[in-house]
Amino acid sequence: MPRAAVLAPLLAALLAACGSSGAKHSSAAHGGSMVVLPTGPTRPPPPVKPAAPRRAPHRAVHGFHPTSTLITHGPRSGRDVALTFDADMTQAMLAAVRSGRRSIGYDPEIVRELRASHTPATIFMTGLWPTAHPGPARDLANDPLFEIENHTYDHSAFAPPCYGLPTVPSAADKTKEIQSAADVIDGLIGSQPRYFRFPGGCHSASDLNLVASLGEQPVQWDVISGDAYLRDPAAVARQTLAGVRPGSIVVMHLVGAPNAPATAGALRTVLPTLRQRGLKPVKLARLLRG
Ligand SMILES: [Zn+2]
Repeated sequence: MPRAAVLAPLLAALLAACGSSGAKHSSAAHGGSMVVLPTGPTRPPPPVKPAAPRRAPHRAVHGFHPTSTLITHGPRSGRDVALTFDADMTQAMLAAVRSGRRSIGYDPEIVRELRASHTPATIFMTGLWPTAHPGPARDLANDPLFEIENHTYDHSAFAPPCYGLPTVPSAADKTKEIQSAADVIDGLIGSQPRYFRFPGGCHSASDLNLVASLGEQPVQWDVISGDAYLRDPAAVARQTLAGVRPGSIVVMHLVGAPNAPATAGALRTVLPTLRQRGLKPVKLARLLRG
């Protein structure tokens, strides 16, 4: 059997791109879409350790106070919106890259569209992504147009069923998924990520507590672009523009074909239309600071 015929269903099963289903991840499913700014209960400052080990138990960015409430959007009162791009990379995808399918997991055309239009964006990156695409990972990390946040180490599911993704078996393994990816991102950008997104959006209440306890804020979305299952750029653009409003967090993907082939094409319509409507794409950190 040709290699492509073997890999296609494998990738389809193991790359369950986030935001694949509007019903599963609607804000209603998570008890409403309340705005939660990172101004939670004040915690005592961590003990000062000049030579603190890299894997400290609590590694929150100084002055950043995550809560265990899932954020799905920012303030509705302004004109800002956040475009977020998930950089998924499963072990199966990485194997495909290593076998010669180097385009798996990254469509550089998306980044070209964002740069050409000077559009800030947030990239939720898996820890394995820089292994597959080391040059682009450094390039994105060095570009102030982008911020890089945490999307687990290998895009495994925190709560089954989750689009066929393998499930992380224990809380200790979940901690490792979060911290390993955070360390990879720290190596790229020089600081710990502040925001975290669950693969497929799949999680339990205890998972929210775990993420917050590790110093990161769980973030979902309120607008599913549909780029993970729509093949037509016009359809992705229509769905995105039908849902977006002030404060929105839009989920898209950086992965390109075969899993999200229409993202770059959709941006050619979405980006100018947002601006025509007076909406301003900003990085997530700015949106949530208000
Ligand atoms: Zn994802």
